Amino acid sequence: MDRRKFCKTTVAAGIAASFPVLTACGDKVPAATEANTSIMGISLDGAEIELERAAIKELGDALTGPVMLSGHPDYDGARRIWNGMHDKRPALIARCLSNEDVAHAVTFAHERNLLTAIRGGGHSWPGKSVCDDGLMIDLSAMHNVEVDAAAKCAFTGGGALLGHLDDAALPHGLVTTAGVVSHTGVGGYTTGGGFGRLNRKYGLTIDNLIGAEVITADGQTLRVSADNEPDLFWAIRGGGGNFGVVTQFDFQLHEFDRNVLSGMIVWPIAQARDVLEFYAEWQGRLSREMYTGPAMITHPELGNVIAMEVVYNGDPAQGEKELAPLRALGTPVVDGVMMQDYKVMQTQEDAAVAHGIRSYAKNAMIGEFTQGLVDDMVDAYIADPRAAIFTHTCGGAVGDFSETDTAFPHRNAQTMIVFFTGWMDPAEDEEGKALCRQWHAALERHSGGYYDNIEQEGDTRVARNFGPNYERLRQIKSQYDPDNLFRLNSNIAPA
Ligand SMILES: Cc1cc2nc3c(=O)[nH]c(=O)nc-3n(C[C@H](O)[C@H](O)[C@H](O)COP(=O)(O)OP(=O)(O)OC[C@H]3O[C@@H](n4cnc5c(N)ncnc54)[C@H](O)[C@@H]3O)c2cc1C
Repeated sequence: MDRRKFCKTTVAAGIAASFPVLTACGDKVPAATEANTSIMGISLDGAEIELERAAIKELGDALTGPVMLSGHPDYDGARRIWNGMHDKRPALIARCLSNEDVAHAVTFAHERNLLTAIRGGGHSWPGKSVCDDGLMIDLSAMHNVEVDAAAKCAFTGGGALLGHLDDAALPHGLVTTAGVVSHTGVGGYTTGGGFGRLNRKYGLTIDNLIGAEVITADGQTLRVSADNEPDLFWAIRGGGGNFGVVTQFDFQLHEFDRNVLSGMIVWPIAQARDVLEFYAEWQGRLSREMYTGPAMITHPELGNVIAMEVVYNGDPAQGEKELAPLRALGTPVVDGVMMQDYKVMQTQEDAAVAHGIRSYAKNAMIGEFTQGLVDDMVDAYIADPRAAIFTHTCGGAVGDFSETDTAFPHRNAQTMIVFFTGWMDPAEDEEGKALCRQWHAALERHSGGYYDNIEQEGDTRVARNFGPNYERLRQIKSQYDPDNLFRLNSNIAPA
């Protein structure tokens, strides 16, 4: 293999090959499928409810985007989300094109007490952006991003993907923190927090959110910022989709040279202890420009390996100097760190985790990268092409906020460890889930909580995980969504 051209593939070749990529749903499609009779839906409490034909038609007429029922040519494409394990059939899908569309759809659901899911990019691991027999509010067509280069601001549609945001900002020499897979949705990602390769320098994505438009359960459109509806603005920065549908995110951008020192260094798994011990000590001294963290995977060509991803957001000469001890460590089989376009890094995982994969994930927010953690990571390694762990290194600007400054509480964590499994065959579902749980369980004692966006089973631990922010979140929930219309999320019960 060409050592300089090595490109990180996250899971095995089997996974990387030919996932059916869901096509972008942004184009205008035919108007509402006519319901000939009433259809049955499901209420927030799980009771069957009748959705009258006339009301569905009225909704279809009110929306500029289509309302899709089963049988509509785009219904099946629209109901599918990223994780192939979730095969649900909403009674209605409202593909919204504007704030007014979203307000109509929300009001329709609220008046009928109808179970409602919000779909941004569709990446929800536990599948909360789709539901059986309820309403899916599909924002995927609201993906426009407008950049005001002078003000260094990106006005981003609630259904945009991270790739749309990067693609709009980078040509202006601007950027903000965005996650590591470009087909992730800005909507769920941002309302949950937002980790990415630039978070040590610029903070989480919510730390760069300076305003938003939110459609609340009563159908109102609110402009929120630090000065306007400050409680709601606080809550959508980490509290998830509990408070309304965010139709626009206003992000602060930063000047950025997209040609960055970046890539992967890879060692055989036999050197994992050395690499992890080095990282445990080194990460406390990293500059804010340096983003790096270990991954343990079974690579299709290299076998069982430990890898470190590097992105240095600053003067490359300085970056080389800071990186030198890592490069000198052990005997890497690949050193792929070089000057390259930031977009290469931002898209390199896309194909390996394309839409349709069946996947399970958990994570652990790690307060301190101790020797005990290193020992457990070495012992717990699972050599299986379907399983991998990755890390998001925190610290730096992430820790500039206190745990109560935004709804996202885990500001003191040094590292997030992500446990990921992915496979294609439904027959492997139970095994795939079990592998992920097994790896996570082996390291859980080091965890001080979890990042809600990468967690499949957090529901019973929501109160504890939000820590000191939970009571305030409940108060805000009761003000903006007292009937808990927006409940398909890590749900915060109204106070
Ligand atoms: C392959 C992959 C890579 C990932 N990488 C990262 C990463 O690098 N960093 C990171 O921080 N996270 C990452 N995540 C986790 C990601 O942040 C969450 O899965 C997030 O929920 C995805 O948002 P979405 O809009 O695509 O999801 P969706 O499935 O569309 O929505 C998930 C939930 O978010 C809420 N929601 C979505 N859009 C809106 C909106 N506009 N207004 C209000 N609520 C909304 C709803 O409650 C919905 O149920 C990754 C996930 C995947 C699958």
